[in-house]
Amino acid sequence: MQSVEEIQSRIDKIKPAGVIEDIFTDFPPESAGNQWQKEVLELLENDFLKDIYIKFQKILRMRSKYTCRCCATCCRLACSEFSPEELKKRADRGDNFARQFLSVFIPYSSKEEARKVYPEYISLLEENKETDVYFYHCPKLTSDNRCSDYENRPQICRDFPDNPLTLLPKSCGFCEWKKKSEETTLHLHAMIEIVEYYKTKIPVGTGSVLSER
Ligand code: SF4
Ligand code: SF4
Repeated sequence: MQSVEEIQSRIDKIKPAGVIEDIFTDFPPESAGNQWQKEVLELLENDFLKDIYIKFQKILRMRSKYTCRCCATCCRLACSEFSPEELKKRADRGDNFARQFLSVFIPYSSKEEARKVYPEYISLLEENKETDVYFYHCPKLTSDNRCSDYENRPQICRDFPDNPLTLLPKSCGFCEWKKKSEETTLHLHAMIEIVEYYKTKIPVGTGSVLSER
């Protein structure tokens, strides 16, 4: 996988001469191997993750070249892996997304009701055997597809779609943006997962090294 090779080659490049073990070895404190691990953790945090963040911001800025066509599909059908009760618990624990979500969306009474709005989406979930999904809609949407509380709509509405990996209806004005940036976004997500894997598995411990500075 290209992302793994990319990260591993940068790690190998700063490997001290004389160290033959790999980066996941439990090196003695203050040894050359241990120092290498600290440098690698800094590299992951200050180089890779920062670069990923900058690239993702660029993708989000690209979105401004596209406009919403006001089809209102995203108001009429929002999905969550959480039930209303679970969202409520998350909101009570301070989860800002859950709080905003519950401030506008209410659950559909059945999947069939949701299917009428966006059949392709429901079919795709079924094909992928994703059954633990809850469907919601916003009662603030008017019959002529307008937001009746536009000035006060929460940030999640203003930001939609905030990720090119979001499944969008064909009618969505951001489909072209998604098409152009999906591959890069997938790559960035893979990079994040790999970086997090290295950060967890390097025995020197991410938090301790970086927070000491
Ligand atoms: S608050 Fe407005 S923009 Fe947000 S989901 Fe409801 S109708 Fe759509
Ligand atoms: S689905 Fe896309 S085009 Fe339709 S209202 Fe939502 S953001 Fe706008």
